[in-house]
Amino acid sequence: MTQWPVHARFDGPIVLIGLGSIGRGILPLLERHIEFNRAKFTVIDPVDDNRALVDARKMSFIKVALTRENYRDVLTPLLTAGPGRGMVINLSVDTGSADLIEFCQGIGAHYIDTVCEPWPGLYDNPNATHAERTNYALREQVLDVRRRKPGGVTAVSTCGANPGMVSWFVKQALLDVARDTGVKTDVPATRAQWAALAHQLGVKGIHVAERDTQRANAPKPPGVFVNTWSVEGFVAEGLQPAELGWGTHEKALPPEGREHEAGNRAAIYLLRPGAGTRVRSWTPTATSQHAWLITHNEAISVSDYLTVKDGDRVIYRPTCHYAYHPCDDAVLSLNEMAGHAWQRQPTWKILDEKEIVDGIDELGVLLYGHAKNAYWYGSQLSIEEARKLAPYQNATGLQVSSAVLAGIVWMLENPDAGLVDADEIDFRRCLEIQRPYLGPITGVYTDWTPLTDRPGLFAEAIDTSDPWQFANVIVR
Ligand code: NAD
Repeated sequence: MTQWPVHARFDGPIVLIGLGSIGRGILPLLERHIEFNRAKFTVIDPVDDNRALVDARKMSFIKVALTRENYRDVLTPLLTAGPGRGMVINLSVDTGSADLIEFCQGIGAHYIDTVCEPWPGLYDNPNATHAERTNYALREQVLDVRRRKPGGVTAVSTCGANPGMVSWFVKQALLDVARDTGVKTDVPATRAQWAALAHQLGVKGIHVAERDTQRANAPKPPGVFVNTWSVEGFVAEGLQPAELGWGTHEKALPPEGREHEAGNRAAIYLLRPGAGTRVRSWTPTATSQHAWLITHNEAISVSDYLTVKDGDRVIYRPTCHYAYHPCDDAVLSLNEMAGHAWQRQPTWKILDEKEIVDGIDELGVLLYGHAKNAYWYGSQLSIEEARKLAPYQNATGLQVSSAVLAGIVWMLENPDAGLVDADEIDFRRCLEIQRPYLGPITGVYTDWTPLTDRPGLFAEAIDTSDPWQFANVIVR
């Protein structure tokens, strides 16, 4: 039998909110790498389709949807039952991250999630402004908790694969580019030092560049949204305005681009949904590809983290956005949904590890605009390898659940760090924990730019003076 390294011990009560594709996947990783008491482990989900997994482990299951009205009553007795602190692992949809973080901080419980999620009623509220529906606004709500109550028990915000792991990849990629372009540097120890390194290297921007080639054993039927992870999560973020961290090298706001009026103003949003916004990007398998500019927390947090300022004046900031080509069935699903004026199909399906016949989830960061043009650094985890590594999840799920594991270990090793996000935690320790679950980790340079093979048969408005302008990246 394999001996798994135990990274941490936690004696207190643990509440896992959400037993969906990621919630199921985290269970075996926790069992392998964290010593905890099963009798103190509770899973909460309004759907009990998978509760057999919980029952078999002699853990508790509560069939309830957390709401703005009930979360205190449901969670308080569970998390304060001792011994010691409690811990919330939030892997659900439709639960308000900022409220849950503030609540956990108030009762001295640890907290981790993978996305800044609102309570229901925001994403699909036609009366909310575009700005109110952005991830920027959701992130500001979480940051506001820290501004009002700094310090305290550790809570890790948005620590999945992306947002999450990709922030650690950005740091490793910056060091690799420094090494390969002859820039001598120690490993930066502070946010300001990381930002200065990105500035010195001349990184104009970063795509979180993903290609999911996982294929199912049966073709997508009409009227079903198919994906390799949460359909509810993907559809929700796809219908938010497209958003990106806005770099200092950009010459002009896109015509449909808008700036925020408050906060750090690191990002802009577009007056169109991410699900309807394509961008030119690059991954090793796809090479050049059209991907979707789906809003994500890391687009804002990475740009914010790598900002260099002189007083209040921003001197340097990289553009950053997600460039996601989901699995082909999800592409067909998006297309079908677009045809119905973005009404989601009546049914949906998340492909599990038994239904996927082949493919990889290639998820990395493409750092561009530096002396060696562009560098992609990331994980190329295949379904075959994911199946061998851990049960109950496909390649996409394992990249996420292993990042959650890394965040939990870091949190337990640093229990009084207050509220942090993935950019702010030890990237080397986290990648060390996660690496056994990521398949091949590849770093590769490319001479591709968004102007490669353009213009073609039709005239296009392109800026040849700087290939890396967002105006060249977005597909018009
Ligand atoms: P999923 O749709 O498979 O599962 C979500 C689960 O939450 C479901 O079981 C659902 O019944 C439950 N749920 C719904 N409302 C609830 C409520 N009010 N209270 C408690 N539980 C509730 O989703 P998933 O693929 O497991 O993803 C889980 C979360 O992780 C989503 O928010 C998703 O966006 C996020 N995610 C993040 C990353 C990342 O890399 N950062 C990647 C994948 C998923």
